[in-house]
Amino acid sequence: MTDSLKDVYDVVIRRNPGEPEFHQAVQEVFDSLAPVMRKHPEYVDVMTRMCEPERQIIFRVPWTDDNGKVQINRGFRVEFNSALGPYKGGLRFHPSVNLSIVKFLGFEQIFKNSLTGLPIGGGKGGSDFDPKGRSDLEIMRFCQSFMTELYRHIGEYTDVPAGDIGVGGREIGYLFGQYKRITNRYESGVLTGKGLAWGGSQVRPEATGYGAVFFVDNMLKAKGESFEGKKVLVSGSGNVATYAIEKVHQLGGTVIGCSDSSGYVIDEKGIDLDILKEVKEVRRARLSEYVDLRGNGTKLGTDGSLWNVPADIALPCATQNELNEDDAEALVKNGCQIVGEGANMPTTPEAIKVLQGAGVGFAPGKAANAGGVATSALEMQQNASRDSWSFEYTEERLSDIMSSVHDQCVQTAEEYNEPGNLIAGANIAGFVKVADAMLALGVI
Ligand code: NDP
Repeated sequence: MTDSLKDVYDVVIRRNPGEPEFHQAVQEVFDSLAPVMRKHPEYVDVMTRMCEPERQIIFRVPWTDDNGKVQINRGFRVEFNSALGPYKGGLRFHPSVNLSIVKFLGFEQIFKNSLTGLPIGGGKGGSDFDPKGRSDLEIMRFCQSFMTELYRHIGEYTDVPAGDIGVGGREIGYLFGQYKRITNRYESGVLTGKGLAWGGSQVRPEATGYGAVFFVDNMLKAKGESFEGKKVLVSGSGNVATYAIEKVHQLGGTVIGCSDSSGYVIDEKGIDLDILKEVKEVRRARLSEYVDLRGNGTKLGTDGSLWNVPADIALPCATQNELNEDDAEALVKNGCQIVGEGANMPTTPEAIKVLQGAGVGFAPGKAANAGGVATSALEMQQNASRDSWSFEYTEERLSDIMSSVHDQCVQTAEEYNEPGNLIAGANIAGFVKVADAMLALGVI
């Protein structure tokens, strides 16, 4: 970090106390930007502005549970940066959600969205609501209450939320229904991740997982290799993980392990997606039920870590800081060649050092998981033109976007004398585009 950036960083720490995830995300970007700041000192002031969200909204979400008891949650929407387009980023419903987590996600989203090359700014939101164990009607009442406040802050030209952890097609449906009812407008472009019959896009559910695998496939191709015959670990078993597993299998690799917050499974013959979807999407149950249904030598690991299992490629697709230094050492020891982040910031800074030090190819989430938001932007395009594209065409667009994100990261890393460092490439390429737009728009 340069001295001037260190000064900005100190201000960020002072003005945002008690927000460790946000500090971590800012530090990771600042650590990459020294060569840019030396070349363009005018960007330092821009960075100071970029660290301050344009708008932060925190609100009460009251709702009634099935026993008639009033429950209170906290809702968040952080509209971080709109230099390139309307704020864009998901909503997360999870008990761990707080301002620090929403700000780290929103900050990362600025650079990720810039890398897609599409006209979208950065934002993020959510609630500390825990959907686990809640009935369908409770989920609906919560979503309706959440939207009753959020609707006044969003719009297709203003801020376009989507899903994230705990927010899938069901929740987007209830949120969109309430928005439509309150505003009396069928404004499809206000939310993405919608169902196909009501303004959604083909490939959006698959996009983040598929996109992460396309990104890693580009890394493999650059080395003259492919997924064919590779053993792969995928953490999580939610939206991103499920479709990462599907694409790895389509490209000839075998996913031999996946996880949820209760533990992990090892299935050397390859994770059976039909069974996984039945357990996680239909029954909304623990992974142990996968082992019961699949049998066939499948094992449940409840202690230790998925990352201790020997494999060629690791795709962390669950949550932030889920792959630590010990995990990284285990991956290196077992000969892992590539770690590609499907989740946001799943690898701790210490683990990244271990992986990079050992020459493991590392794809940072803000580049590797950009396929989700990119396809959301394609959904917005279809909504704006009242059109709907085929699966094949949309997947081809996604694949092209991921190749372009990969190439930008590689070329930018080379341009700034960091060959092979895709973290530097992603941060610098994402930053420069937003910084130039902010300079052009004046001090606002
Ligand atoms: P989901 O809620 O669909 O799935 C999350 C999965 O991670 C669940 O299987 C959950 O298990 C598991 N999990 C949570 N914590 C842990 C843990 N500590 N160890 C192992 N597994 C864990 O979320 P998504 O798939 O949508 O999101 C996953 C990640 O990808 C997040 O970081 C998100 O921000 C990021 N992302 C998502 C995008 C999207 O389009 N959905 C776009 C870009 C990034 P359980 O079932 O037990 O809760």
